[in-house]
Amino acid sequence: MAAGPILQLTGVGRRYNEIDRELVILNDANFALGKGEMVALVAPSGAGKSTLLHTAGLLERPDSGDVILSGRSCGTLSDEERTAIRRNDIGFVYQFHHLLPEFSALENVMMPQMIRGMKPGIAAERAQQLLDYMKVGARASHRPSELSGGEQQRVAIARAVANAPLVLLADEPTGNLDPVTSSYVFEALEALVRQSGLSAMIATHNFDLARRMDRRVTLKDGKITDL
Ligand code: ADP
Repeated sequence: MAAGPILQLTGVGRRYNEIDRELVILNDANFALGKGEMVALVAPSGAGKSTLLHTAGLLERPDSGDVILSGRSCGTLSDEERTAIRRNDIGFVYQFHHLLPEFSALENVMMPQMIRGMKPGIAAERAQQLLDYMKVGARASHRPSELSGGEQQRVAIARAVANAPLVLLADEPTGNLDPVTSSYVFEALEALVRQSGLSAMIATHNFDLARRMDRRVTLKDGKITDL
């Protein structure tokens, strides 16, 4: 493991070309996420939180600058190499769970491991452990439609960390939940991050949750700044 930050954004630029204007979302943006660090990304809707998380998670390429993961520059890698890094080293959680509806909770958490080549027995064992850890183990055989919103998100978090990624990126993971469920899901997420030494960047509108993280950043004039 390289010393220094797990995830770094250096001089990142990202803009969208609209018909009559250019929308600058990131402009020479810099950011570093340390090992085991949990950082809240707090900014108004439309500020560019999703764009930032997608760029950091190698789902989108920056127009300029670089994304460095565990000391490895990802800017010039091929799409295939970026896909492999996404699969193994980056976990993503969205506001909506995006679980596969025709599979059980257990199978959903097994899936990324199977894609990586893990044997089904081992993948199932780890999936059950993660579901237990997220306190949704008793629901392992249920399909997503049979789970509550909070349970669905806990399964989605278990799936995101199934391949033991270096970084967890979450885009308003509790945004669809009521305050009590939201706090409960966040508690499980926080425990998982703390216990596994994972590094996490979590976009949230919830100031109570943001306060519980190590650090808070925002997006201002295309830059990532401390809050
Ligand atoms: P947030 O997650 O903070 O709500 P987003 O990153 O989704 O912000 O969007 C930032 C801005 O960029 C918004 O004004 C949005 O409309 C615009 N935007 C996002 N994706 C695209 C795209 N693919 N093409 C054009 N504009 C986009």
